[in-house]
Amino acid sequence: MLVFKFGGASVKSADAVRNIVNIISDYNEQLVIVVSAMGKMTNAFEKLAQSFFSNNDDIDNIIKKIENFHYTISNELFENKNVLIFDEIELIFSNIRKYIKKEPSLNYNFEYDQIVSFAEIVSTKIIGAYINSIGKKTKWIDIRKSLKTNSIYREAKVDWNLSEKLIKNTFDFSDTNIYLTQGFIAANINNISTTLGREGSDYSAAILSYILSAEKLIIWKDVDGVFNADPQNFENPVLFNLITYHEAIELAFFGAKIIHPKTIKPLQNKETPLYIKSFKNPKKKGTKIYSFSKLKKGISPNVPIYIVKNKQILISISAKDFSFVDEKNLIKIFAFLSKFRIKINLMQNSAINFSICVDNDNSKIPLFIDKANKEFKVRYNDNLQLITIRHYNKKAIKKMIENKQIFIQQKSRSTVRFVVRN
Ligand code: ASP
Ligand code: MG
Repeated sequence: MLVFKFGGASVKSADAVRNIVNIISDYNEQLVIVVSAMGKMTNAFEKLAQSFFSNNDDIDNIIKKIENFHYTISNELFENKNVLIFDEIELIFSNIRKYIKKEPSLNYNFEYDQIVSFAEIVSTKIIGAYINSIGKKTKWIDIRKSLKTNSIYREAKVDWNLSEKLIKNTFDFSDTNIYLTQGFIAANINNISTTLGREGSDYSAAILSYILSAEKLIIWKDVDGVFNADPQNFENPVLFNLITYHEAIELAFFGAKIIHPKTIKPLQNKETPLYIKSFKNPKKKGTKIYSFSKLKKGISPNVPIYIVKNKQILISISAKDFSFVDEKNLIKIFAFLSKFRIKINLMQNSAINFSICVDNDNSKIPLFIDKANKEFKVRYNDNLQLITIRHYNKKAIKKMIENKQIFIQQKSRSTVRFVVRN
C-alpha cells in the first residue's frame, strides 16, 4: 500500500486535477490519497474566518469568490451538470452560510478551524467525484471521524492510540483499492473540527503512512524534489537524489520549505521511505528520504545546503536593573514565548542579555514585546535575515554573507548560522 499526498498547487485548476488523476492511474497498488485544499483556498478561507470573527461586511463577497472558484473547476470537470457532486457542493456552501449566520464565539482559533476545514472537504469531494466519474472506484473518507486530536485549535496534537484504532478500521481496503481523504484537518473526541497547523497535510499523510504501515509515502510537489537551496531564489540549485530523515528534519527546522517539520518523525519510526516527486514530471525519480543505516550516507550529492528565512526580528532581553539574566528570568521569558506560541529560530545569551531570533509575526510579536517590557528591558532589530548553511565551507559562507551586516553568528561542525541585514 502506498500513501500519496497532493498539495494545493497540484489541484489548482481542472487541468491540474486531470493531471493528478493521470498520475494516480499509473499505479496499480492499493492507495491512500491525501489531497489538500485547491490552489490558495486555505488562504481564502482564512480571510473568511477573519471576516466572520470581526463582523466585516465583505464576508458575502469572500464566500462568493470561494464558491465561484470551486464551481468553475467543477463545471470544467463534469460535463453532466446533473451529477450528484453539484448537490454536494451546494450543501457544503449552504452549511458554510449557515455557520457564519451565527454569532462567532470568543475563540478565534476555534472559529478558524471550523471554517477553514470546509476548504479541505469541498476539495476532496470534487476530486473524489471526478476520479469516480472516469471509472476508477475511489472511496471518500472524512478523516475527522478517524484522526483524533486534543482541542488546541490550529495546533492540535494527535491522539495516537485512538487514531490508530479508528484509522485501521476505516482504511481496511475491504471494499476499495483507493481511498481519498483530507490532510491538515482532524477532530477532537466530540467531533469538533481541529487543524494540525498550516501546511499540515504532509504530516497527515505521514500519520496515515505510519498507522497503516505503508510501503512508501510520495509527496507530489511542483518541484522535482529537495534542492540544496530554494529554486525560486537561487541560481543553479542542486537536486538531491538522497537525504536522510535526520537531514530532512534539520532542514525543515531551519526553515527549508520542503515539508512540514512534523512529517518525518512518524516515517522514521517505521523506516517508511519518503519520496518527494514532481507532479509536473512524474517520471523523474525525485528525492528519496530514508534512514542513514540504509543509505549509508547523509546526502547525495554532497554539497552545502542554504536556507534563508526572511522577516526575522532579533529581540534582546535584559533585566531592568542590569543584573544577570539568570535561569529564573529565563523561565519567565520562555513562559511568555510559549503563551504567545512563538517559536525560537535561534537564541544566544550573555551575562546580561538573552537574544532570540524569531519570525516577525504581527499577530504575536507586539503582544510578546508588550508583555516582556513590563518586567524586562527589551530591544529589537527587525527586517533581518536568518541564514543557515549546512555542510558549509569557506566559499559557501563567503557567497552568503559578503557585504552583509552580521548581528549574530553560530557555528557547529555541520552548521553555520547568521542573523544579518542586507
Ligand atoms: N491546505 C492547508 C494549507 O494550505 C494544509 C496543507 O496544504 O498542507 O495550509
Ligand atoms: Mg494547502
